[in-house]
Parts: sequence; structure tokens; C-alpha cells
Amino acid sequence: MRLSYLGRRIMVKVPLYINGEMRQSESNEWLDVVNPANQEVLAQVPLATDSEIDEAIASAKETFKTWKDVPVTERARIMMRYAALLKEHHDELATIICHELGKTFEDAKGDVWRGIEVVEQAANAPALMMGETVENVARNIDTYSYMQPLGVCAGITPFNFPAMIPLWMFPMAIVCGNTFILKPSEQDPLTPMRLVELFEEAGAPKGVLQVIHGTKHQVDRILDEPSVRAISFVGSCGVGEYIYSRGTANLKRVQACVGAKNHMVIMPDAKKERAISNLVGASVGAAGQRCMGISVAVFVGQSKEWINELKEEFTKVRPGVWNDPEAAYGPQTSPQAKARILSIIESGKAQGATCLIDGTDFVVEGYDKGNWVGPTLFTDVTREMDLYKEEIFGPVLACICVDTLEEAIQIINESPYGNGTSLFTACGAAARKFQHEIEVGQVGINVPIPVPLPFFSFTGWKGSFYGDQHTYGKQGVRFYTETKTITARWFEDDIATGPNMSINLR
Ligand code: NAD
Repeated sequence: MRLSYLGRRIMVKVPLYINGEMRQSESNEWLDVVNPANQEVLAQVPLATDSEIDEAIASAKETFKTWKDVPVTERARIMMRYAALLKEHHDELATIICHELGKTFEDAKGDVWRGIEVVEQAANAPALMMGETVENVARNIDTYSYMQPLGVCAGITPFNFPAMIPLWMFPMAIVCGNTFILKPSEQDPLTPMRLVELFEEAGAPKGVLQVIHGTKHQVDRILDEPSVRAISFVGSCGVGEYIYSRGTANLKRVQACVGAKNHMVIMPDAKKERAISNLVGASVGAAGQRCMGISVAVFVGQSKEWINELKEEFTKVRPGVWNDPEAAYGPQTSPQAKARILSIIESGKAQGATCLIDGTDFVVEGYDKGNWVGPTLFTDVTREMDLYKEEIFGPVLACICVDTLEEAIQIINESPYGNGTSLFTACGAAARKFQHEIEVGQVGINVPIPVPLPFFSFTGWKGSFYGDQHTYGKQGVRFYTETKTITARWFEDDIATGPNMSINLR
């Protein structure tokens, strides 16, 4: 079955992808995939049955037997073709994201592009998979190591980056020689399914990638399956903790990138306009649904006087639908997500914070059923408030004022999260102190959302990450491989005589 997407034919039933075939699930349980700007039902996604999951696992196990021996150069060439195809279909993928998640077109394009960059990195697998060698560790003995694939790996992805986050996972795992089972977010599965079609078109053999849909029960099945060796999870803290505990208890490798509460520190020597415009984009951009978005602004010293200008800039931000070129961001993913954000905003008011701009009643004209939350700005926020403690995941910014950089660093270091942070300053010494002392895994200096490009790894710390090896980059390769160390002795009197004229290693 070939899928067609928006603008051609609306797909009603999202298929599973098992053993290289798009196939309709036999499940009796289906969930609606909804456009969050108007509640239009775009498709239905199944909760895969146990036997469908078992089939996917069996196919992944079987395919691994041959896929692991396909030369790494051939595996890498598939990634080169895949990156080219993704670029060719870039705008189409972005449009699917706009429909099922409500992102603006520009933002959706960024979601696709940051995923393509990981595929480009996966195409470097021959270099990334190099082991280590020491010659003559003892007389006539050499020791060298290889990085070999693990087997069947799995990935469970969140709603907020339906292109980028699946692409963080399966290309790296598969190029390393593993087979992979993807369980995408049930909220926006159309984008991942299009990624899968293009992967097949790039030449990926059947069985290297499987897709099953579902929620907790389907994930549990993967967590308890002995042949699944490694699980990559991205999502909320509670679910991540559960997956990490159950997965590791079942002796699997698990990497879980989870929730966040990211602070931006604004020094009084920073360029005011630059700091404020970056703060606005980083806090309310993507409707605040970014794990690296900024939710707390820490104003140091006199910079607190800029809060009035920040308020003015917030009043200019106008959410809207995906194809409105003036729209700053789109709706929240679901009515439930919106309700949760509104209740945290109300708790902020009740607990004594000052709400400078209140986005609770915001509606986009003509889209009154959309899950809209307008930009919301609070000051006089304390660390005891839910507004500060909870990951809001909405377009809400809390401002805190302190006297010194030391105080700002202390506040951030006492936060249980450690995904991202940034400092705006013109002072190199302040920047160096901040980057050295801050207990956060991804630090921006005059960069508001410091998501590393994929030749580095995505290195959340503390309560924002459970595991040892991080996602993508060199750590991603280590996560998906096992190191084999070989110690070899060869004896000179075994050397055969007779010429070999060929230069060809094959
Ligand atoms: P979520 O935890 O609700 O869902 C993530 C995935 O887990 C989905 O595929 C979902 O079906 C599955 N799931 C949900 N409940 C489950 C359960 N009880 N047992 C097993 N599986 C379950 O997260 P979300 O709302 O889709 O995404 C938003 C969250 O993701 C935010 O907390 C955000 O910070 C986080 N996130 C983190 C990063 C990062 O890199 N640290 C990146 C993106 C998003």
C-alpha cells in the first residue's frame, strides 16, 4: 500500500509498517489524529495488537541476521540517498507537520531540517564506527577494537518534533547495523509514516525498520521483549522515568531525554534589543512546545528595567494558523494540553505572581475551536510557585530578578532539570564563568536555544536525561553499538608464498 497525504488524498487509517509492508492494523482500538487549529479529524491511528507487535519484532530479529553484515559503506550510502530525498520532500513533510501539529510553516521546516542534519551525520558512519588499535601490545601481538551493532533497537517519540526526533533515532541505529522498531507519538503519526516511505524509497531493505502504533500497552510490550537490546525514548519526565526503570530492569540499554525548565540569564551589559527579541522567540516560539525553549528569564541587576520593553514585544506576538505568514506560532497540541497550561497560569495568579500579559482568552478569528493560548508573561515569580516548578510546555514566560550573576547561577544549579540554558552578555569573563559553573548540559552564550548540531550529542543533564550515552553524535553511535576488543598474534613462519596481484580488498 502506498500512502498519499494532504493535498492529494486524506489518509483515513494510519498503517503499521511490518516487514517492509504498509499494512492496516486489525486492532479494534483506534485514536483520532486531529488538526489542533480546528479539531478536524485527519486520520485514525491504531493501537497495534499483540500479534502485530510480535510480528514486527520477529521481522526485526530475522532481518538483523543479514543486515548486520551489509558493509557499513553500503548502509551509509542509503543514508546519503535518504538525506537527498528528505531535502527534495522537505516542504511536503513540513506541510504534514503543519496540519497534524499546527506549527507555522517556517517552524515546521526547521523540524524537518534539524532531522535531515542527523541523517547527514549518519552517512558518516564508516568514520564514526572506527575502533581503536595498538600495534605490538606484546611481541607479535596487536590489539584492536570494533564497534558492532546490538541487534533489535526501539524508539518511542513525543509529539512535539514528529520529523526531527524519529530522525534522531532510526537512521543512527540502522546505519550502525541494527534493526529498529519505531513507536511514534499517537498524536501526530502522519509525518513519521511519510519519513518511513521515503526511507524505503532511499533503498532501505525490508525489515530494517518497523513501525507499530499505540500507547502504554504497546510500549510495555517492547520494554518486556527480551530481544530488544536498546530503547531510545524522548518525552515527559514521568513516562521517561518509567521507561528507564522498566527497560533497565529488563537489562536493556535505555537513553531517555525528558522534560525541562530552561533559564535565560540577561546581564545588564547585553545588547538590550538582541536579548529581548531572542527571549521572546525562545519562550513563546513553537507555542512553547520545545524541550529547549526558555520558560524562565533571570534578569541580573539593572537589566530588570527591560521587563517593560519585553512586555511591549510580547503584545506584538500574534499566534495564528500554519499558512498565515504573520503568525508567530500555532495552537497547543490538544485541548488537554491547553487546559493544563491554563490551570498553571491560574495557579501563578493565585500564588501571587504578577501577570503582565494574560493569554488565557486568546482566540484566532475563524478558528475558534483551536487550542489557542496567547503569549503570557509573569513577573514577581518565586521558586515555590507551580509556575516556576512545573514544566508548562506552553507560551508562558516567568521573570525573576536577581542582583548578581552568582545568584542566577545558583538558581539554575538548584533546578532539578538540566536540559538547556543561555546567557546574554557582552562580557567574556561572565560568559566563561557561566559556562564553567553552570550545571546544565547544553549552554548557549548569546544563543537562546543551544541545540547542538549532530556531530556533537544532545546532552541534557540531571532530571532532563536518564541514561549514560546521549542521543546522536559519537555518543549516539556508542549507544547503538557494542565494543569488541580483539587481541591477535600472528607467527612469521605462517606467511604464505606466492604473489597476489589484486589491489581489490573485496
Ligand atoms: P509523553 O511522555 O506524553 O509521550 C511520549 C511517548 O511516550 C509517546 O510516544 C507516548 O505514546 C508514550 N507514552 C505516553 N504515556 C506512556 C506510558 N504511560 N507508558 C509508556 N509510553 C507512554 O510526551 P509528549 O507529551 O509527547 O512530549 C512532550 C514531552 O517531551 C515534554 O515533557 C518535553 O520536555 C519532552 N521532550 C524532551 C526532549 C528532550 O530532548 N529532552 C525533546 C522533546 C520533547
